[in-house]
This record gives sequence, structure tokens and C-alpha cells, in this order.
Amino acid sequence: MSGEVLDVVQRLVLSAPGEVVVLVLAVAVALPAPDVDLWAIRLLHHRSILTHSVLLPLLVSWFLPELGPAAVAGVSLGVAVHLAADLLSPSHGFGRVYWPEPFQVSLGRWSALWLMLNALGASWLAVAVLPAGEAWRYLAAGVGAVAAVGYGLRKERSVLSALVALGVVAAGHAPRWWLG
Ligand SMILES: [Zn+2]
Repeated sequence: MSGEVLDVVQRLVLSAPGEVVVLVLAVAVALPAPDVDLWAIRLLHHRSILTHSVLLPLLVSWFLPELGPAAVAGVSLGVAVHLAADLLSPSHGFGRVYWPEPFQVSLGRWSALWLMLNALGASWLAVAVLPAGEAWRYLAAGVGAVAAVGYGLRKERSVLSALVALGVVAAGHAPRWWLG
């Protein structure tokens, strides 16, 4: 894209309604994103430690800063909900988290701990990177809650999964409540 077009796109994205759209889209794209490891399964193994981690939102913030904080927050929320839902599957077979080639060994029973810490980390990151203003936090909490319930019930078909994901989304806001 030419510099001028990029400038217009960036101004649109960084306008307030633009950022709301970016946040919602980023959540939608990021919800299934950790399972892109299935496309490179020989290299990564399913439940790759690389894609099932806070790395995805960090990559967005490092390589696509033009998209603004709402994109990072949205991807963080989507990944947090995905990892929270994965947390409930048993720690054997594809339930485990794996190192990529050339190791391809699993974290074994540490898989659940890894998923939990990264889900919480992503949830916290979503709140931490948001632009200033309470409205953003309410919006992120609302979008996160919808994503958690929707993903838990529709994808995982589990009320428990929806509740765990909701808990993870809420936990991201907890540090701010405590710190005031
Ligand atoms: Zn997954």
C-alpha cells in the first residue's frame, strides 16, 4: 500500500468507532487462531506451545503496531478464551501442549498449568494495553464475556468451559479493581 492509503487506513482504524470494530474483529479472528498449528502439524504438533501462548498477541503488538491497542487487546481476549476452553480437556494425547520440532515432546501434566498461566496472562494483557478510559474496559469485558460464553457453548458445547472462560476474562480485570 502507498503511504497515503496506509495513512488513511491508520486514521480510520484509530478513530473510536474504528477501534471498536477492530477489537471485535480481532477477537473473532483470534478465537480459533491457536489451532493454526493443525496447518503445520508435522512441524508444530497440535496444541503447539508457540500458538497456545501469549505469543500471538505479542506478535501483533510487535509487527502490526499500526492496528493500534484495540487489535492487541482483541487478539489477547480471543487467545485467552481459547486457552481457557482448552484447559478442560484431559492432559493426554492432543490435550497436551507440545514443543515444536526437533523436540516434539509434550509438557505432560504441566500442560494445564501452561494453558492456565497463558490464558490469564493474555486476559491481563487485553486489559493492560487498552486505551485510557473506563468505557474501553467495559467494552472489553462485554466483548470478552460474549466470546467466552459463545465459544464455550458453541465450540466446546460445555457450560463449564463457558464459565472457566468467563472467569479468565474477569481475572484480567482483577488487578485493576484491586489497584483502584
Ligand atoms: Zn487449541
